Amino acid sequence: MTTVAAYAAPAAKAPLERTTIERRAVRENDVLIEIKFAGICHSDIHQAREGWGEALFPMVPGHEIAGVVTEVGPAVTKFAVGDRVGVGCMVDSCRVCENCAAGLEQYCTDGNTGTYNALDRNGEPTYGGYSTHIVVDEAFTVRIPDGLALDEAAPLLCAGITTYSPLRHWNAGPGKKVAILGMGGLGHMGVKIAHALGAEVTVLSQSLRKRDDGLKLGADHYYATSDPETFTELRGTFDLILSTVSAPLDLDAHLSLLRSDGAFVNVGAPEEPVSLNLFSVIGGRKTLAGSGIGGIEETQEMLDFCAAHGLGAEIELISAAEINEAYERVLASDVRYRFVIDTATI
Ligand SMILES: [Zn+2]
Ligand SMILES: [Zn+2]
Repeated sequence: MTTVAAYAAPAAKAPLERTTIERRAVRENDVLIEIKFAGICHSDIHQAREGWGEALFPMVPGHEIAGVVTEVGPAVTKFAVGDRVGVGCMVDSCRVCENCAAGLEQYCTDGNTGTYNALDRNGEPTYGGYSTHIVVDEAFTVRIPDGLALDEAAPLLCAGITTYSPLRHWNAGPGKKVAILGMGGLGHMGVKIAHALGAEVTVLSQSLRKRDDGLKLGADHYYATSDPETFTELRGTFDLILSTVSAPLDLDAHLSLLRSDGAFVNVGAPEEPVSLNLFSVIGGRKTLAGSGIGGIEETQEMLDFCAAHGLGAEIELISAAEINEAYERVLASDVRYRFVIDTATI
């Protein structure tokens, strides 16, 4: 075991503070990673404040991890000391169920092991990326291509894959009209990736406040959902709407924006159940779906795609001492578009 520095929430809703945690000794298939940067995801805040239910404390959040390998276990074959690597939202799964066998470890029927706020398969708590080091099995570690800066790559490990996976699954590409609902940490990556895939991209945001950014990042059109005219003008337009919004929505109104056979896919999740008039999907044979992160192989594919297209996240680099303030700003939607912690400041 090694003692390393970290930022942790000691209890639900308590401010995060500097502390130390134990990382396990490197096992056969493990890599020890010196974390360089860790993104702040909205779900870190949901969990540190128990918005999604009871959580484990102390909690070291962080599942957008970018760093460098400093030690490898004797059986490691994928990585060597000095490699630039990333870790996302999960650090293990059962590895044998039909979903794991299909490269969909995130949907492991036994449940994947979260990077933090989880118990690993030995019953030990997992601690995330707001820390100087982490020990992870090589099977759940991905390579960050040289073309990507580590700080801009960190958010790809959650925000990047969460948008890339459904955009690929629902065939965003040339000839397809794709709407990205919400222009935050997830949404801004959705715009970049959908554009790079060749789709015609529309941002649907509450206001036109971030319009210039959206167009610069690759959107072809930008509409405000607070304007009722938007729903009249865009009725029956989209092949795919990717919703990154975690606030309650008028689903019937948004489903009316799809063409026949179009899909409305949720990657943001409101804390409360939603209601729906089923005629909204019956007329036009529409699909209402959801999607969660992506498998390990697909996460690697996403990083390679982003490197090939020069797509990093738009970030605000902060020191560890600014984490609590950053949380408040995320809650106020006051970030363009992802906070990333320089872990050298922990
Ligand atoms: Zn996340
Ligand atoms: Zn499994």
